[in-house]
Amino acid sequence: MISKAGVNDMRGSLTESDLLISKAYVAGQWTGSDAAPIAVDDPFTLEEFGEIPDLSQAQVQQAVDAAADAFPAWARKLPKERGDILRRWFDLIIANKEDLARLITRENGKHLREARAEVDYGAGFIDFYADEATRSYGEIIPAPVPGRRLMVETEPVGVCAAITPWNFPLAMVARKAAPALAAGCTMVAKPPELTPLTMLALAKLGEEAGIPAGVLSIVTGHAAPIGEVLTKSQVVRKLTFTGSTHVGAMLAEACAPTIKRLSLELGGNAPLLIFDDADLDTAVETAMVAKFRNCGQSCVAANRIYVQNGIRDRFVKAFGTKVSEMKAGDGFDDAMDIGPLIDERAIAKVDEHREDALSNGATLIAGGPSPGGRISVPTLLSDVPANAKLTQEETFGPLAGVVGFDTMEDAVRMANDTPFGLASYVCSSDPATIARVGRDIESGMVGVNTGLISTPLAPFGGVKMSGLGREGSHHGLAEYQNLKYICHAGL
Ligand code: NAP
Repeated sequence: MISKAGVNDMRGSLTESDLLISKAYVAGQWTGSDAAPIAVDDPFTLEEFGEIPDLSQAQVQQAVDAAADAFPAWARKLPKERGDILRRWFDLIIANKEDLARLITRENGKHLREARAEVDYGAGFIDFYADEATRSYGEIIPAPVPGRRLMVETEPVGVCAAITPWNFPLAMVARKAAPALAAGCTMVAKPPELTPLTMLALAKLGEEAGIPAGVLSIVTGHAAPIGEVLTKSQVVRKLTFTGSTHVGAMLAEACAPTIKRLSLELGGNAPLLIFDDADLDTAVETAMVAKFRNCGQSCVAANRIYVQNGIRDRFVKAFGTKVSEMKAGDGFDDAMDIGPLIDERAIAKVDEHREDALSNGATLIAGGPSPGGRISVPTLLSDVPANAKLTQEETFGPLAGVVGFDTMEDAVRMANDTPFGLASYVCSSDPATIARVGRDIESGMVGVNTGLISTPLAPFGGVKMSGLGREGSHHGLAEYQNLKYICHAGL
């Protein structure tokens, strides 16, 4: 059980303490398990403040069966009725924003300011799809012969499974559940083991909003056995996954025998290209946001910063000043800019990438080694070799590296020299440069003179090994719909 002291101390006090939940949500019931619970810790204090049940495969199957049972009635509801329930869910999330944000900071470590922004961002998908539910249209195709009508209707895909990562504990599941439920699908969602509590709190508010039993279940426990039930099931018709490319590929393979639909939001290795004609303040602001949001633990984080040699020294000086002013520490402390990293592996990866770049000729401009615990000091390196680990792999931490370039062709070639293609960023004041880079760069999203591109209104997703499918916008709804073509003769 979670101790009251753990709940109500200064760091994590939740005014609605029933949002700190230690049970899974299966078929409309809050459920425990016979197995030993899994502890959830606070990445800053390292205190274990929560726990979740380790469900058996039979319990996960129960969630799948309940989703199948609930599907026909949910799919038959009027879109407006589904939208009204989503709207109530959105309202409850906003009413409980502070508690949800505290829970995110407690289990994920991100700064409370960013946790509040995540609640707004994630809730925005529920808001958007509450309306979008009623805006799904079919087609009439001009008939090739007299007396026929060719109609295309949309219908919900069916039971969907969702598996999400720890870096945005609320937004990643909201981005999936909102369009799925709006389209008339039911869902079984598995939260990440490191940050499962926010998803449970979200489900609690969904229950209060009137989401019927079985329409949304949350199955907690160890990933592999849960994944096995969800991927092998014939009843589950779609898997929507956000996480690493390695696990995404494994799950896609596991889904192949049952030919499930897939949405895969996978790893990134985003380049930021800064040209000589860029506005310096805009370039620095873009780099700050694109690199350090969520402590660098974002799939769209600028992992590689390519700067044209004419502006490079001025950019490194100005960016270095900002980076050296940043403070990493307790996410509940207003004086801090960023919180801790998620775990020791994350610290080790940042340290490895920094040391690899330095030993291959990079220059330390600001920051340095981790002071201990899970704190990683915001760090800037310059003169990073183009083949350093820092530019080749997703660092997922507050370490920025600058690589110089001479021509646009060089910059685009280096930017595209990766198997990933999620986001990219370009800073320039020349419309022709922006247009050519926008055309030639291989990524699903491009930020021009901004590091902040995510919104429920636009399609989020990648190309190459960054994934399949889109989340957000009307394209996000289509991910949860099948097309049915009806050929009506004899008219
Ligand atoms: P991860 O290790 O791939 O885990 C993601 C999810 O998959 C977690 O819920 C994890 O469960 C689960 N999982 C792991 N092994 C599994 C298995 N055998 N069967 C079923 N589920 C399994 O990724 P992560 O470290 O949490 O997240 C970071 C990665 O996510 C980065 O690469 C980042 O770029 C990517 N990401 C992409 C996007 C996007 O939109 N493209 C957004 C955010 C993050 P446990 O936690 O229980 O192990």
